[in-house]
Amino acid sequence: MAVPIMQAVRVGAYVVKQHITGRKRYPLVLMLEPLFRCNLACAGCGKIDYPAAILNQRMTVQECLDADTEAGAPVIAVAGGEPLLHKEMPEIVRGLIARKKYVYLCTNALLLEKKMDDYEPSPFFSWDVHLDGDQAMHDSSVCQDGVYERAVAAIKKAKARGFRLSINCTVFDGADPKRLAAFFDEVMAMGVDGIMTAPGYAYERAPDQAHFLNRQKTKQLFRDVFRLGKGKKWRFTQSPLFLNFLAGNEQYHCTPWGKPLRNVFGWQRPCYLLGEGYAKTFQELMDDTKWDDYGTGNYEKCADCMVHSGYESTAVMDAVRRPWHIAKVALFGPETEKPMVPEISLANQRPAEYVFAQHVDARMAEISAAKKPAKPPRVTVVDTPAVAADAAD
Ligand code: SF4
Repeated sequence: MAVPIMQAVRVGAYVVKQHITGRKRYPLVLMLEPLFRCNLACAGCGKIDYPAAILNQRMTVQECLDADTEAGAPVIAVAGGEPLLHKEMPEIVRGLIARKKYVYLCTNALLLEKKMDDYEPSPFFSWDVHLDGDQAMHDSSVCQDGVYERAVAAIKKAKARGFRLSINCTVFDGADPKRLAAFFDEVMAMGVDGIMTAPGYAYERAPDQAHFLNRQKTKQLFRDVFRLGKGKKWRFTQSPLFLNFLAGNEQYHCTPWGKPLRNVFGWQRPCYLLGEGYAKTFQELMDDTKWDDYGTGNYEKCADCMVHSGYESTAVMDAVRRPWHIAKVALFGPETEKPMVPEISLANQRPAEYVFAQHVDARMAEISAAKKPAKPPRVTVVDTPAVAADAAD
């Protein structure tokens, strides 16, 4: 199994408990971005386009643990930036594991061999290595030759050391279904525990805007890949219903609160992909975000999104409501032949708002205010002869 049985049971019990207690919105996976700094600059990335002063910011160990306390999700994905550049990352991971949280540490693997010994294999811990396809596909995606080779060497070493490890494969326009299917065969042969896959989100700040998939192309691509995978026993770390959604068989609405993001700005509204605002606390994020303003059909920036950040939680919640449905898809795989379900209408979506610069300016002002030396205390002159004499001394 891509996910250990104990993890599946604990997460399932958590979801059922939320439903029984009538909690309308709850987090499934806490996303942590303790830094934005990265040692790559991928063309499809919209996360690292910040001034150096922001790239140099780090969430502390305590801030990461506090974020977990606030959200209370059973699973935590640590992303970035490149988390292995954070000096206190081993302590953050140890602290979260001590709380019996299932931690996925995302990495591009360039530092994995060097830093591996700072971590221990555990049923609560998994590496999540960024690998966007075979050698040519991945090196092109990360804009640097040789990255695939180093990542694969690190994957093999981590597996030999007994670590759990999945790969995170983001797919872009122009991907060839046959090559992608062959790549999935290849990573299974490497012994990885699971594959996480999704189309790239069209970040407004990403340098390459020409290779993001629209919804129709995404669904056709995944259908073609899954058709080639029939009978191959690929292991995915995602819900079978999310894969069914990718293949155009579910008309899901986004549940961005299922994977809330805490980063150096605060709690990001509304999701991991979109920074439209920040809340100071998790409760404020949940209570004050206008959730209905977001999602495909509601907001222009969400029009083509089919990313797990918003839709994996929808799939998990659907599985609780329709267990027979997930059982069927898990058994037979996503549907690849019948007509796709109708697409959500975009007729009433609100236009995009562009707020990036405003948040960057606000954060830069906070950083420079924190750097200014504290003002000396004000001296009150009391007009008595004794004090006047002391002052003269
Ligand atoms: S559809 Fe949901 S997950 Fe995707 S960008 Fe919009 S709010 Fe975020």
